[in-house]
Amino acid sequence: MMVKIGYDAGHGINTPGKRTPDDEREWTFNDQVARAFAKELELYDDVTLKRFDDPTGEEDVPLDARTDGANSWGADYYISFHHNALSGNGWGTHTGVETYVYTDPGSESLKLAEAIHPAVVKAYGLSDRGIKRANLHIVRETLMPAILIEGGFMDSSIDIKKLRDRNVLENAGKLIAQALGKFLRLSRNGVVDDLDFYSPTMRYKYLMRVISPATKQLLVEKAVEELRYQPQWIENHNKGILKPGDYTAIAYELAVHYAKLDR
Ligand SMILES: [Zn+2]
Repeated sequence: MMVKIGYDAGHGINTPGKRTPDDEREWTFNDQVARAFAKELELYDDVTLKRFDDPTGEEDVPLDARTDGANSWGADYYISFHHNALSGNGWGTHTGVETYVYTDPGSESLKLAEAIHPAVVKAYGLSDRGIKRANLHIVRETLMPAILIEGGFMDSSIDIKKLRDRNVLENAGKLIAQALGKFLRLSRNGVVDDLDFYSPTMRYKYLMRVISPATKQLLVEKAVEELRYQPQWIENHNKGILKPGDYTAIAYELAVHYAKLDR
């Protein structure tokens, strides 16, 4: 099974108002982050991506179309990339990054924000304005956990230096993708770092979804280490004589075991 990630770059190139005092367009900053995000996330296994703005930027796809699209596609998570502005009085020295959730966010949206926001702070190297709640269409109308990232102010004489640096924007997309990969415990080339999952439910769902050869090996090792299975299991795994059901049974047992430890 695949985890489905919906995302967008906010606005379009020609959206009125969404520009710096020097007429640089917000969409072009958003687009660079969105592209780097997708490029990095595509390196992971069992993830599929769909973009809900116009990748040419020509059309500003209406917000309804974006959220309807993500809902009907059945995205599991949604991320919207933006850059901020204080309305229209030229350059200022306000600064910092924010991650938005809905005013009444689901717990999984909050967890998503908490998992991603540190990567935003790190990548831009700007002050941390925190995780915020707001009644924004994109986080309100999406049926799945969703966040909106404001990667610095495009009308700030401080932040604009970062936004004009392609390396900063590309690194932002990359680090956000890596944070998401870690949050979802996605593997790369069949390898997942560990079995230290965020929540028992996610751990179980993940294991049911992605049983790669490397994960099978890890499962059997954990069964011996933590569930006191006989070392013979590792030998049988190496011989390739275990059945798929053996691994899912271990995965389930581990989920229960970790759930107890979490309490
Ligand atoms: Zn925006």
